[in-house]
Amino acid sequence: MSDLTCKILIVGGGPGGYVAAIRAGELGLDAVLVEDGRFGGTCLHVGCIPSKAIIHAADSFRALAEPAALAAIGVTLPPPKLDYAKTVAWKDAIVARLSTGVGRLLERAHARSIRGRATIVDGKSAIAHSDTGEQRIVCEHLVIATGSEPFKLAALPFGGDILSSTGALALTQVPKTLAVVGAGYIGMELGTAFAKLGAKVTVVEALPRILPLYDEELTQPVARRAADLGIEMRCGARALGFADGALRVADSEGEEASVPADKVLVAVGRRPRTEGFGLERLDLTMAGPFIRVDDRCATSMRNVWAVGDVTGEPMLAHRAMAEGEMVAEIIAGKRRAFDHRAIPAVCFTDPEIVTVGLTPEAARAAHGEILTGSFPFRANGRAMTKQDDEGFVRIVARKDNHVVLGVQAVGAGVSELSSAFSLAIEMGARLEDVALTIHAHPTQSEAFHEAALKALGMPLHF
Ligand code: FAD
Ligand code: NAD
Repeated sequence: MSDLTCKILIVGGGPGGYVAAIRAGELGLDAVLVEDGRFGGTCLHVGCIPSKAIIHAADSFRALAEPAALAAIGVTLPPPKLDYAKTVAWKDAIVARLSTGVGRLLERAHARSIRGRATIVDGKSAIAHSDTGEQRIVCEHLVIATGSEPFKLAALPFGGDILSSTGALALTQVPKTLAVVGAGYIGMELGTAFAKLGAKVTVVEALPRILPLYDEELTQPVARRAADLGIEMRCGARALGFADGALRVADSEGEEASVPADKVLVAVGRRPRTEGFGLERLDLTMAGPFIRVDDRCATSMRNVWAVGDVTGEPMLAHRAMAEGEMVAEIIAGKRRAFDHRAIPAVCFTDPEIVTVGLTPEAARAAHGEILTGSFPFRANGRAMTKQDDEGFVRIVARKDNHVVLGVQAVGAGVSELSSAFSLAIEMGARLEDVALTIHAHPTQSEAFHEAALKALGMPLHF
């Protein structure tokens, strides 16, 4: 077996790993990236991108299937028809295009890449098993970026009609009935999309309400919209098993019921990928099931680093990318540390939810007295002209110096406001900075401006 030597060996080519490889290459470091599947990882192939494509298709179809909303703006159309196989082919073409793009970016950065499974030997070497044979790779720095995989429920083993998000995104027909177990990110994003595409959706959530990770004020508009779409919510319930086209569930009192389901999507969280590739040969300190890292993504072993989902929450692609970029820069000799304060989280439900930084409750706990300002989209001209004025933007700041600590929003298209919110926190903006920034009219971003004005006690349009 021939040896390949390099400065950095990166195991896993998802957003964390491939971005680390690109930045390392750009900085002139000799990097080798080993990826078992396809470059781009979960996010590109079975996560962020395909799910957002299906959500867009579902929104487009639904918009044409709402005659009352169309009639209000003077449009009448015959009922739309859906060729879902075409939708899926379109989604796959986007993924393929982006995947080719990642390959080109790696080449352009002069990062060497190997398609194969890496088995770790020790902190300085691994073996890549590919179609063409085995290769030993010796490195100075090892970066673990192996990501995560869906949690399994013993009562609902994946296979047949019981699907993970990967299976749900690979369907070529819209199921007539779909049961979704777990009302988190995946359950609510995909459950809503399939309801818009025509499935009768039932969501089973163990906790008393949907999207328990967000505060209830933010999730109420999503729950209302789900009800409008005919999604049946069974919160505080447990899924017991699936047989003969029905999901058996028990409510909080233990009362059992049967939910008709052609398919069942199980989306109850993800666990880090830490088994089956020799990780146990390293003397790593773990944090529960995750690899423990410090604010530089350094593990407990010298020159062994870990980035992305394998290190824990929040399991978001942009966090993985930012960490991958940082680790490459640290190895190149730059002084960097990761600041978690301004990581945006976006839930692509209907309406969308964005949070960055601290909620009012967390801000009060950390900083004592705070100021908050909230502005509803029903007072925002642009939201009205887009026929969707549900939701609001809320800003949270310290009372003493007005430094912005958090921003939360719920509303149609608010995902595109997330970078303005993050920038404000990243730059250490005060309420006055947001209030004195001229926001274009008419845009939904004016709600951010108005929320800051309101927190300062000087609202203009409310
Ligand atoms: P991954 O993307 O999981 O990549 C890890 C890679 O390592 C994989 O390609 C795997 O094949 C490879 N690998 C593992 N072991 C080995 C080995 N031994 N040898 C070689 N290769 C190996 N996040 C967002 O920010 N926004 C979204 O809208 C969003 N939507 C999502 C929708 C769905 C349905 C899902 C499932 C996830 C979504 N996420 C989203 C989360 C996002 O996909 C992850 O946070 C992100 O992919 C994590 O990146 P990563 O590099 O840590 O790991
Ligand atoms: P999640 O943690 O968002 O939600 C899981 C839900 O399942 C929770 O509400 C939980 O209470 C519930 N649950 C747990 N066990 C259950 C059981 N036995 N029966 C019923 N309900 C149960 O997890 P997810 O939706 O699987 O998503 C996984 C991760 O992927 C997310 O944490 C997120 O990091 C990432 N993701 C992000 C996005 C995005 O950024 N827009 C989209 C999709 C996924």
